[in-house]
Amino acid sequence: MEKTSDKMDRVGIMGGTFDPIHYGHLVAAETARIEFSLDKVLFIPTGNPPHKQEHKVTPAELRFEMVRQAINDNVDFAISRVEIDRDGPSYTIDTLKLLHREYPGQELFFITGTDALKEIFFWREAEEILRLTYFIAASRPGFEARGFLEQAVKEHPQVEGRIHSLEVPALAISSTDIRARLQRGQSIRYLLPETVRLFIRSQGLYKG
Ligand code: NAP
Repeated sequence: MEKTSDKMDRVGIMGGTFDPIHYGHLVAAETARIEFSLDKVLFIPTGNPPHKQEHKVTPAELRFEMVRQAINDNVDFAISRVEIDRDGPSYTIDTLKLLHREYPGQELFFITGTDALKEIFFWREAEEILRLTYFIAASRPGFEARGFLEQAVKEHPQVEGRIHSLEVPALAISSTDIRARLQRGQSIRYLLPETVRLFIRSQGLYKG
């Protein structure tokens, strides 16, 4: 999707629980930045994910710190505390309304996993969300993203042109797998930045 106007900045919003962040997320953000001509990518770790109330999620400040360290050396990446500092469940609609106020006139591209996006029509104010931002649905190789998009357009014609897919081979890495490896005492080297690995070790995160 090429940039047609130089007047508007294009901001990628990398939303996720990032428990923990890994190279799959970083490659997805960088690939989206290049393929969609984004001026920058803003990482927004969820504070209190509404869809994970029954799961144990690592405290928001620790997930935030891991993301901060992971993106530290990339001038095109930034991080926001908006969802960490907001009380209550982190609804994407609240974040998008705030970003629209903070960055008027900018085009927003919400980058997230296709599996997460499959639930989009159950998110709070889904119609308004789709009006406020484009979506970039990042998928692992072998994951049928096109089928999901075709179905979504058939059932909800208004999403046509609003959701774009992006296959990211590095997303074969997953947070779930990293947590499972740590519980089994296995190595996670080279799956995420070394600073993040050392932070996880120093904080004793994800132990069995
Ligand atoms: P999730 O359900 O934990 O993730 C689903 C899949 O997508 C996982 O395979 C995950 O891989 C991958 N994924 C998640 N974020 C990604 C990203 N930025 N880039 C590439 N792959 C990604 O999803 P989540 O992380 O909790 O939520 C994703 C976003 O959707 C967040 O911003 C969240 O706030 C938003 N959301 C909003 C609502 C709502 O407003 N009601 C409801 C649900 C989700 P890993 O496990 O390896 O990360």
